[in-house]
Amino acid sequence: MAKVLITSGPTREYIDPVRYLSNASSGRMGQALAEAFLAHGHEVVIVSGPVDVVYPPAAAVTWVTTTQEMLQACEEEFEACDGVIGAAAPCDYRPERFSPEKLAKSGGVLLLRLVETPDILATLGRKKGNRWIVGFALETHQVQQRAWEKLRKKNCDLVIINRPSAIGSATSAVEVLAADGRIAASWQGDKRTIAGRVYELIEQTLLAHHPRQTG
Ligand code: C5P
Repeated sequence: MAKVLITSGPTREYIDPVRYLSNASSGRMGQALAEAFLAHGHEVVIVSGPVDVVYPPAAAVTWVTTTQEMLQACEEEFEACDGVIGAAAPCDYRPERFSPEKLAKSGGVLLLRLVETPDILATLGRKKGNRWIVGFALETHQVQQRAWEKLRKKNCDLVIINRPSAIGSATSAVEVLAADGRIAASWQGDKRTIAGRVYELIEQTLLAHHPRQTG
């Protein structure tokens, strides 16, 4: 049986003690993927940002807030895992400076300087070894081209393209790009059904061809 790491939900980057930047992400896809892997007897580790969804009790969940914390937790888990699915929507930017005091309104424009956060999948991709990596791509334009770029940059085996309409929704429509340059599949339906299909594809194309990392 495989041990699978799933990132899920959004991260938050605080500006001051009450305000933060985040991404729209419900954690439903991560939840559905965890259910699918557990149903087939695999071990599931979830690293999740703040969400309301309830993860299956059989999954080991590490809760994080920021992208840096998500990266750190994933780096700790990844070594003992056979592969990772990046279903999270980590914040790509954080405020350059955190204000420990709540920022007061000044009546004018407030300028925030943002700096990039680390890319979790790309970081894991650089020390992938014999593990597999599955990413998601959500784009509004040049969708396939950007998704192919992501697949290469993040050293992914598969990239699942979904649309902005999937955010917070129970349903989604996806296309799956494979590292050999093929469009491996395209499906639509509720996220549980799609997660089941994603599981089957990973099972056939990745689990079957990657020897176990752990005993
Ligand atoms: O580059 P973009 O954010 O569109 O890539 C999406 C994929 O990369 C998703 O699988 C997401 O979980 C992952 N990602 C990540 N770390 C980030 C941003 C995105 O692992 N900082």
